[in-house]
Amino acid sequence: MAALMIPANTLAAKRRMRVRSSASRKDHAIVKEFREGCAAPLPVLRRVAEGIAADMRKGLNSDGGHSLPMIPTFVNTLPSGNEEGLFYALDLGGTNFRVLRVQLGGKDGRVIDTEFEQVAIPQDLMFGTSEELFDFIASRLGTFVQKESGKFHLPSGRLREIGFTFSFPVKQTSIDSGILIKWTKGFAVSGTAGKDVVSCLNQAMDRQGLDMRVSALVNDTVGTLAGARYWDDDAMVAVILGTGTNACYVERMDCIPKLQGHLPANGDMIINTEWGAFHDSLPLTEFDKALDAASINPGEQILEKTISGMYLGEVARRVFLKMAESGAMFGGSAPDKLSTPFVLRTPHLCAMQQDQSSDLKLVGKILSDTLGVDDSSLGIREMAIDICDAIVKRGGRLAGAGIVGILQKMDADSKGTIFRKRTVVAMDGGLYENYPHYRKYIKEAVIGLLGSEISKNVVIEHSKDGSGIGAALLAAANSKYAREF
Ligand code: ADP
Ligand code: MG
Repeated sequence: MAALMIPANTLAAKRRMRVRSSASRKDHAIVKEFREGCAAPLPVLRRVAEGIAADMRKGLNSDGGHSLPMIPTFVNTLPSGNEEGLFYALDLGGTNFRVLRVQLGGKDGRVIDTEFEQVAIPQDLMFGTSEELFDFIASRLGTFVQKESGKFHLPSGRLREIGFTFSFPVKQTSIDSGILIKWTKGFAVSGTAGKDVVSCLNQAMDRQGLDMRVSALVNDTVGTLAGARYWDDDAMVAVILGTGTNACYVERMDCIPKLQGHLPANGDMIINTEWGAFHDSLPLTEFDKALDAASINPGEQILEKTISGMYLGEVARRVFLKMAESGAMFGGSAPDKLSTPFVLRTPHLCAMQQDQSSDLKLVGKILSDTLGVDDSSLGIREMAIDICDAIVKRGGRLAGAGIVGILQKMDADSKGTIFRKRTVVAMDGGLYENYPHYRKYIKEAVIGLLGSEISKNVVIEHSKDGSGIGAALLAAANSKYAREF
């Protein structure tokens, strides 16, 4: 009888405690081990920064066999602000495909008008043929061009020019041609690797009856750097954190031994690091290794798989699954949803970490709706947040270490000019833009590695949609018509 007198809230508290203590000894051990495996304290970050700087040098020295491809982009002029006219940009990045037009008005007018559209890439096209993918892109571009309004002006007798942002590893052969090395970020399109992606697009535009020309082929990092430089002369590095991750920076020609003898040794060139390929000294867990083994590119893009938006949710899902399978956390059996690769996405992690409610209601809803884990206790919800935090902290801190690695390499080769003055690192990508915790961890790592004084000179700032406008700016800077004057 006495038990019936216990107030309901005490019962609820007891129930919670029972779930926590009985169900979670094993779970706590898994979370603890995972957190330790993911930890990226300063000594680890230092090794990663040094490793990236060392691999950058190797990759600049010669092609092949190194973790960092260090691809010359053939971009040696960044926008000055004087660019004028109507230009298009087309951005094939991973999750979405964007088309954009911009009317540039020179130094005074700057960006007079801009319009863009975004289209999700149908899943089946990611696994289809090259023709199917490029036909889809060209047809959407054609529809967008048809909607051009009177605010945009193309001088008569000219073709519309496009800056093509293509965010996959390309061996660039000139500013307007480049051969696809391999697909990444879950794409497995047949028939493109080894081909010039500009020709693929031109042929598709021909098939669609679309009369345009590609004036610049750029990586999204390069587009972002160009977009940032248009507004700020101190922009020297650009980093993308979206579905995938990559970085580029301004390198001196005399620091690129593999180009010597081919091109003039003075001036600068933007180098696309393809840093997603980096793999040394990273704090990896059994879950990361299993994710890699099950991926379509095992052994490749290890940094990308550790820090970029495509993979963060999947690492978390694998940890939850182990807890379910080990018999404790989710009542001994794994729901079907929890066993489905990639059901848990990075935006879910972000939403869970932002849940401010006392009972972590939103975390409970995501666990239930997305993973099929119903009636989670508060303890389980807290553990879920701990797991998200461990993954995001590692991602943000490693991204910060990568930025420092690039800056240290540049600083060493320029006798201290990078850290002694203001240097801007332009950031873009859906992960950076939408995940405040991730941004905070990047910053913490940079300050931790460089110290508070030097890090004041390193301005890490979001360059919103810089990559789209940047590609259009590079099309303008490399306009076929400009050369005729
Ligand atoms: P890409 O151009 O490579 O397709 P985007 O820059 O558009 O990538 O970024 C998309 C990625 O950003 C998604 O894959 C996701 O990982 C991440 N993302 C999108 N929205 C959010 C969000 N709300 N919180 C955290 N990450 C997000
Ligand atoms: Mg992108």
